[in-house]
Amino acid sequence: SSATTPITATLFPGDGIGPEIAESVKQVFKEAEVPIQWEEHYVGTEIDPRTQSFLTWESLESVRRNRVGLKGPMATPIGKGHRSLNLTLRKELNLYANVRPCNSLPGYKTRYDDVNLITIRENTEGEYSGLEHQVVRGVVESLKIITRQASLRVAEYAFHYAKAHGRERVSAIHKANIMQKTDGLFLKCCREVAEKYPEITYEEVVIDNCCMMLVKNPSFFDVLVMPNLYGDIISDLCAGLIGGLGLTPSCNIGEGGIALAEAVHGSAPDIAGKNMANPTALLLSAVSMLRHLELHDKADRIQNAILNTIAEGKYRTADLGGTSSTTDFTKAICDHL
Ligand code: NAD
Repeated sequence: SSATTPITATLFPGDGIGPEIAESVKQVFKEAEVPIQWEEHYVGTEIDPRTQSFLTWESLESVRRNRVGLKGPMATPIGKGHRSLNLTLRKELNLYANVRPCNSLPGYKTRYDDVNLITIRENTEGEYSGLEHQVVRGVVESLKIITRQASLRVAEYAFHYAKAHGRERVSAIHKANIMQKTDGLFLKCCREVAEKYPEITYEEVVIDNCCMMLVKNPSFFDVLVMPNLYGDIISDLCAGLIGGLGLTPSCNIGEGGIALAEAVHGSAPDIAGKNMANPTALLLSAVSMLRHLELHDKADRIQNAILNTIAEGKYRTADLGGTSSTTDFTKAICDHL
């Protein structure tokens, strides 16, 4: 209720269109009287030696302290001697699972009307461990790391999520017929966790077959859990099923219950500063943050206002075939509240 003391959450407006769509979230939250106080942190212009990155130590501390935050897109500046901003966040905050819900938006027509999928991506290892080297000239090697600890952790999160959200099935996506050791271990861990959740149907699907099935009929699936690289690819495939990157939210889950919600898309430099960006993905990410905080009333109200605005079709941004500016679209959502 609005009488409670406000919850402090970290906000990274980010780069490019980030500040424009973050402004949209702030306005909608204000209009809906969400009891959240934002602690804003911008990406620095110099490398912070304490993080080896343009992200300041204080901004990371803010997320650690608040345990909840919202992040706009960050463009990693080209140059040497610093880490990618997203990689810094992932490593420093131990963001081990990326959760991406994909739901059809009523009134925005795509090939399917009934998409309702959750992809859960292991976010810390696999092919993204950054362990590459040249063996001899003309031969390079990249190490794919799969650990029991990280696999159990993401599998546990997937089953816990499925149970908490009334989902019926968890599918582990793999290529264990070829990657027998790595994907084999991932599957073994998923099986172990599955035994603790007899009420949830567990299945294993080979990634190539999974792609074919998703494109043919997305309702074959419910919750999907997978190693890093497969998750990167499959979650974008799922975003495509509902209309693209302007619409898809995500949430990163870290050790100790940290939740850092973020839009899936990048900083869109081609349209930055033009009041053209679609704030839906960041708004829906903010809604997932509210759900994490169990502020379900506020989350429902804002989600409905977004969906009704899009369904009504009067105000849509250019990426959805409309002519509305970011600010007009945001105002329409506020009016729907
Ligand atoms: P992008 O997602 O920024 O843009 C791809 C296309 O989608 C562009 O045409 C863009 O205009 C459009 N688009 C994206 N979001 C939109 C929105 N909300 N509304 C309307 N149109 C939208 O991808 P990119 O061009 O490959 O990357 C640009 C920068 O973003 C790079 O520096 C990259 O490193 C960074 N990036 C950051 C993240 C992140 O912070 N999580 C993710 C991806 C890319």
